[in-house]
Amino acid sequence: TVGLLGYASPHSAPTAETCHPSCSLSKENCRELAALNLNLNISFSNTAKASQDFGHMYHDRPSAILYASSAQDIVAIVKLAYFSPNNLTIVLKGAGHSIYGQAQALHGIVIKMSTVVPFVEASGGELWIDVVKEALKKGMAPRSLTDYLYLSVGGTLSNAGVSGQAFRYGPQISNVLELEVVTGKGEIVICSEHQHADLFYSVLGGLGQFAIITKAKIRLHHVPPKVVQSLSLSLSLSLSLSLSLSRISYLILSYIIIDASYLGFLDRVHDKERDLRKSGLWYTPHPWLNLFIPRSRIIEFDAWVFKQKLSGGINGPMLVYFLNRNKWDSQMSEVTPSEDIFYAVSPRSAPTIGMLMDQNSKILYFCRTKSIEYKQYLPQYVNQDEWKTHFDHLCPRFRERKPRYDPKAILSPAQRIFWRSK
Ligand code: FAD
Repeated sequence: TVGLLGYASPHSAPTAETCHPSCSLSKENCRELAALNLNLNISFSNTAKASQDFGHMYHDRPSAILYASSAQDIVAIVKLAYFSPNNLTIVLKGAGHSIYGQAQALHGIVIKMSTVVPFVEASGGELWIDVVKEALKKGMAPRSLTDYLYLSVGGTLSNAGVSGQAFRYGPQISNVLELEVVTGKGEIVICSEHQHADLFYSVLGGLGQFAIITKAKIRLHHVPPKVVQSLSLSLSLSLSLSLSLSRISYLILSYIIIDASYLGFLDRVHDKERDLRKSGLWYTPHPWLNLFIPRSRIIEFDAWVFKQKLSGGINGPMLVYFLNRNKWDSQMSEVTPSEDIFYAVSPRSAPTIGMLMDQNSKILYFCRTKSIEYKQYLPQYVNQDEWKTHFDHLCPRFRERKPRYDPKAILSPAQRIFWRSK
């Protein structure tokens, strides 16, 4: 059920700027615009770029540029101009190939139709690998993916969906245009940032608490057929020198550069999965810990966790990604540290499962005693106080949303956040 490729208006239009220092609209127009209280993508700065055209003879600078994504955006601005006592004018700029400034508006508003956004529609139970394969038929792929693609769309959108692309495009939950969901009251709702927005943001990163995702429109971008993949290989060698007093450890870093198909690159973890299935390790317990650590504390974390606690190696992969908080919408349910930059850190193995669990508790204890404002990703808590700490300032919103969409707490009980009521 993947495959309905289409085009939509852009996902996240910034809110309207109020009177900007460089704004040359009249104060009345600014007040009128602000009073409309619209979620318009309008810019009052850098308006010079709308005073250019192919002719390069006229350079009439507008007061503002509206990046319109719908007819409603345009209606709002036309009405503003229509009722404005200030002779406000409007022009739509297409590709800008006029010669005598025909697509310019001195002190007026230039409207640019925002480029449409390609998307793929997938059912909530679809695996990302199938979404990727379908999109690649059109030379596109989701902008943000997980390292491992045999996860379902609904499963990762209920958390965040983080990997190496997230620093640039945000997590997967920042790349959803629309959802079809079934709430805990049995209602089917189509939601997006424009309709039923509260439900839309509740569900994204909502740990399955508010609704079941039945369909998602996922933003795509064009991708090359091949990529140059650089695999970094770190080898820790211990040499015993015959005359030495001690053993000396070296860290040798080398890089292998390979040509890979785009699909091969995205699906890079699949081979590892096959190996782990063969060796049986896929079927052993996986008490994984995933943390978001704020940038200001990562040096301390590195000094104690990586350089001391894990200095002997971890006998497996460790994922470290840096992430930009401005790519996460704070209205979504997923919580992050409050700093602008934070790191996703996932030490995923130790020589034994017992040692891994011990290692996890020590890392968490270290973070707590050092008052590091960490957040668990894919959180696992057993009591309400821990959930409260996890959601801290967001807790009231998370709590308030539950009775609105799943009043009897029917959905996802195993997260142990809410308990089923009569
Ligand atoms: P399930 O385990 O089936 O469900 C998990 C949760 O999601 C449940 O609470 C469930 O209620 C909810 N849920 C599932 N489907 C829906 C739906 N349709 N509607 C509403 N709620 C739903 N995460 C990353 O971010 N990046 C990675 O690179 C990454 N790699 C991973 C690699 C492996 C091998 C594994 C095992 C996990 C990895 N994860 C990664 C974690 C993964 O994103 C989460 O565990 C995710 O929830 C798994 O998706 P799933 O479809 O298996 O969900």
